[in-house]
Amino acid sequence: MSETSRIIAATQAVSAPNYAPLPIVIHRGDGVWVWDVEGRKYLDCISAYSSLNQGHRHPKIIAALRAQANLLTLTSRAVHNDRMGTFLATLCAYCDMQMALPMNTGAEAVETAIKLARKWGYRRKGIARDSAEIIVCRNNFHGRTTTIVGFSSQAQYRDDFGPYSAGFKLIDFGDAKQLEQAISPHTAAFLLEPIQAEAGVHVPGDGYLDAVREICSRHEVLLLLDEIQTGFGRTGKAFAYQHERQAKPDLLIVGKALGGGVFPVSAVLGARALLELLQPGDHGSTFGGNPLAAAVGQAAVEVIVEEDLAARATQLGARLRRGLESLDSPHVTDVRGRGMLLGVQIAAQSGTARDFAERLLERGVLCKDTHAQVLRLAPPLIIDATQIDWLLEQAAFALQ
Ligand SMILES: *Cc1c(COP(=O)(O)O)cnc(C)c1O
Repeated sequence: MSETSRIIAATQAVSAPNYAPLPIVIHRGDGVWVWDVEGRKYLDCISAYSSLNQGHRHPKIIAALRAQANLLTLTSRAVHNDRMGTFLATLCAYCDMQMALPMNTGAEAVETAIKLARKWGYRRKGIARDSAEIIVCRNNFHGRTTTIVGFSSQAQYRDDFGPYSAGFKLIDFGDAKQLEQAISPHTAAFLLEPIQAEAGVHVPGDGYLDAVREICSRHEVLLLLDEIQTGFGRTGKAFAYQHERQAKPDLLIVGKALGGGVFPVSAVLGARALLELLQPGDHGSTFGGNPLAAAVGQAAVEVIVEEDLAARATQLGARLRRGLESLDSPHVTDVRGRGMLLGVQIAAQSGTARDFAERLLERGVLCKDTHAQVLRLAPPLIIDATQIDWLLEQAAFALQ
C-alpha cells in the first residue's frame, strides 16, 4: 500500500466526510509549488480558494509569524494588545475605509456585516424592530453558517439545515432592475459578491456594480460587498469593485488572503459612523484581532502592496487567459474571469470538470472543479511568466 493510500484511509476513518478531496496527500509547500508525500511536485492553482495570493510560506509573512510567536500570541479582547491597532491601520489604508472589525473566518465576517446592517436598519433608517430585510443573489456563496446557508439557493448547501433565519430575499445576480424592484421600506442592505466565484466564476456585465451602488444610495440601502475571494489583488485591482467607476461599498467584507496563507484572518470595514453602531458587548470573537493574527495580517497586506500583486494578476492573468483560449480545446466552451481568477467551462459532452482536474493533477497541476462543468484556475499571484507557460503546456495535454 502506498504512503498516499495509507494516509487517506487512516484520515477517512476518523474525518467526517464533508469533503471529497483529490486523491493526493500534500506534505510541503513553497511559493507556487506543493509536494505530496510521494515526493511529486504540483503547481498550486487552487491556492486554498485565493487564500494564498502571496504563495506558500512567503518569507516575510513567516518571519512576522515567528517574531510574534516569540512574544505574544493571544490575549482576547479583554485587554489591548500592541499589534491590533497597527494592523487595522494598515488594513484600513489599503481598503480606503475608516474603521475595521477583525474576525477570523470569512463566514464570521459576513455574519458581522449582517448584524451591522440590521442594527443600522433599526437605529438609523428606522425600520421596525425585527423586520429588516437583506437582499442577496441567487447562486451566492457567503459561507456555511446556519444563517448564511439559509439564504443559499444551492440545495445541497441548504436542504436539511433548516429552520432558516428570516429576513433575506433572493434576486438574480447581474440584474440591477431586479434590485430596484425588490427594495422595500424594510430593506436594510444588499449583500453580494462582485464576481460569483464559487458559482463558476461569473463576472457581471460592465456597469452593474455602479448601477447597484446608485440604486442603494437612492433608496437608503447599505451596499455590502463580499470580497473574501476576490480581494487583495486577485482580480487585478485591490478589490474587484474597483474595476467599476464608483461602486465603493458601505461595508467591505474581507478574509482568505488577509491571513497570508497562514491561518484565518477576516474583517469588516466601513465608515466610522457605521462601525460605531456596535457598542461594547454587542458583538465579539475570542480570537478576533489576536496579536498573532494581527502580525500575520499586516505582513500579508504589506506583501500584496510591496510586490504589486494586483498588477501581476492583471499581466500574468491575461497571459494565462490568452494561452488557454489559444489552445482551442474542443472540450472548452468558455474561458472567463478577471485578473488571476479564471473559470474554464467544460463542454457537457466532454465529461465533468472533475475529470479534467484529475487529468491536470497527473501532469502536476493542482486545480479543482467548482460546480460540475467549471474548472477554476487561481494560482498564487507571485507566479511568474515561465510558470504560467509551463502550466499552459500541461493544460494543452490535459485539455486535448
Ligand atoms: C470562502 C468564502 C467565504 C467563507 O469564508 P470561510 O473562511 O470559509 O468562512 C465567504 N464568501 C466568499 C465569497 C468566499 O469565497
